[in-house]
Amino acid sequence: MPTIKQLPPAVVNKIAAGEVIERPASVVKELLENSVDAGATRIEVAIHQGGLESMRVTDNGLGIAPEQLELAVTSHATSKITDADDLFRVGTLGFRGEALASIAEVSQMTLRSRTAEAESGFELRINGGQREAVGPCSCGTGTMIQVEHLFFNTPVRRKFLRTTQTEMGHISEAFARIALAHPRIQMTLVHNDRTVHELPATENWADRIHNFFGPDIGGSLIPVTSGEGPARISGFVVDPEHSRGNNRMQYLFLNGRYIRDRALQHALGEAYRGLLMTGRYPIVFLRLDMPAELVDVNVHPAKLEVRFQDGSRMYSHLLGAIRNKFLTTDLTARAQLSAPPVQQPVTAGVMASGAASSAEAQGHMPLSVDRPARDWTQPPGEFRPFPNPPGVSPASPQAVPADASWNEPSVADRAPAARAPAARALQIHNRYLITESEEGVVVIDQHALHERIIYEQLREKVLGGQLESQNLLVPEPVPLAPAEAARVLQSREVLARIGIEVEEFGGDTILVSAYPAMLANHNPAEMLRGVVDILLGETRSLDARDIVDELLHMISCKAAVKAGDQLSDAEITALLEHRQLCQDAHHCPHGRPTALVFSREELDRRFKRI
Ligand code: ADP
Ligand code: MG
Repeated sequence: MPTIKQLPPAVVNKIAAGEVIERPASVVKELLENSVDAGATRIEVAIHQGGLESMRVTDNGLGIAPEQLELAVTSHATSKITDADDLFRVGTLGFRGEALASIAEVSQMTLRSRTAEAESGFELRINGGQREAVGPCSCGTGTMIQVEHLFFNTPVRRKFLRTTQTEMGHISEAFARIALAHPRIQMTLVHNDRTVHELPATENWADRIHNFFGPDIGGSLIPVTSGEGPARISGFVVDPEHSRGNNRMQYLFLNGRYIRDRALQHALGEAYRGLLMTGRYPIVFLRLDMPAELVDVNVHPAKLEVRFQDGSRMYSHLLGAIRNKFLTTDLTARAQLSAPPVQQPVTAGVMASGAASSAEAQGHMPLSVDRPARDWTQPPGEFRPFPNPPGVSPASPQAVPADASWNEPSVADRAPAARAPAARALQIHNRYLITESEEGVVVIDQHALHERIIYEQLREKVLGGQLESQNLLVPEPVPLAPAEAARVLQSREVLARIGIEVEEFGGDTILVSAYPAMLANHNPAEMLRGVVDILLGETRSLDARDIVDELLHMISCKAAVKAGDQLSDAEITALLEHRQLCQDAHHCPHGRPTALVFSREELDRRFKRI
């Protein structure tokens, strides 16, 4: 019979540590929360090697009295609650009193602290849970906690840690969540002695958001405020012109605490319904404030999830607040301000404007307002959606001449004798091309076909290692969320294969320095965001080839003409010509058909000719 034994405290603490401290970012999160709870107005975070080597958080908060230092690192010791009832009115970020004890158990920790009253600071070191004697030290008012060699005594855990970059990405995200929730605190983040974020204290939340995510997002904030009963919503939703392929940029803060909540995320999706394409997620920064007793924050180990007493009310409150805001905001005007003139602005098909184009009415929003207008008169060598297809020399009678492009004059210049008679087609509804073939009438989906053509051309070049990449004259900075930036840097090799070169720029901004020549007329930032969505969206572990293939699909889709784009005769001709050269002209890269054929026999039969 197995015997039951009480586990020694060290083991108990290690088990507890496993729950709270999953990776370096969990340490940073806990330490930052403590600094906020201590009323700090300035917090500095210094990390080495993605936290694998060391993490240090220094604050100017209340400090810990010397006689309490040992207690601070004892499990279930806290200054924040005293009895079980307090659990239902938690006003601080921490309350369980287990973070410091857990961290100290699985690392080498140095804690220095000084209260305003004390005549000096005091230091306590703990090595894998083993405390040393408390002694005086010199330090300013506040607390400094340094954590080195996390998981040094739990090798299995340590093995699960990922690369420096990945861990740093998580740390930046933890930092971002606290920094966004607390704009009045001056905060810095330093990695390997390089400053990643330097955020001045501000009364203005938009300033901090701008500071973090750059002018694109910072300039597209739409304020939302709404009160309902005891609950209040305030903050910003981002113009639907900007969106993401995942919900990581949905920052919800409940009473100052960053939370994830499926129901509320769903409400956000509903509020933006009709404004974003399927698969796109809105970006928001919203504070939800309500009396602490109306929400249970003690339901998740990292306190990321909470339970609302009246979840459905919160849901409809959030949905209603954003919908109302959109109804009274002229998104069209906003989009036009920043959009190139030729583009269809992102209009609110479901909203007051009522001027939705046919494409929108059918659920096809223009992909994005920052998609550049196709420029028919650009100099040769720049963007040519239909460069000479591989294996086809300009001399061959069926071929499109080498300079064939969307460029109208070049089409006109061609000697008619050099080409097979081009099939003619009629564009209808700005989305389908109707033409004839031997068999009958062919209805082509212009977007699907163009996408297929670009995909095949790109794939051919990538496989042959001849995709031309060109250095951007002015490298394009793209601000990303921390985890996204980390992932992009990790995937440099894969990206290089599709002609995209990226560099670190500082903060979570990535610099796109080279770009496929074929796509030179398409916005690199938008392309990179699409890339990020694929890289982060993959839960299956794909090999590099699959990822490249997915990226090619995405790029072709973005670069292709859209349903709703009016095509010139020359463009229609070019599409039809390239259609004949496609390996699989019948399917777009996603497997949807590019064309439907109504055979002559069938038409004859239907018209009762036979
Ligand atoms: P909790 O935050 O849940 O109370 P912790 O283990 O994180 O538990 O911290 C234990 C106690 O140590 C806190 O209750 C607080 O009194 C004290 N403490 C921790 N960090 C700081 C800090 N940066 N400044 C002042 N006091 C701190
Ligand atoms: Mg704490």
